[in-house]
Amino acid sequence: MPTKVTIHYEKVKDLKVLEEVKELCPVQVFDKDAAGKVIVARNQDCIACHACDSNSPNGEVTVEEQ
Ligand code: SF4
Repeated sequence: MPTKVTIHYEKVKDLKVLEEVKELCPVQVFDKDAAGKVIVARNQDCIACHACDSNSPNGEVTVEEQ
């Protein structure tokens, strides 16, 4: 099932949340851009495990199944 993974940067109060989410993803959907910002780099690889959104206490990352 395709998913849409979104980082809601306006909800990020602690950058550590994104660092943790990046490490938690089992299929490396997240990466960093040249400036070191965590981004959704490989949305197509998402397996909808929900490790990222369930570890986003302020809704920093959402996963919508489409
Ligand atoms: S739902 Fe799982 S596979 Fe998809 S981006 Fe989040 S952690 Fe990665």
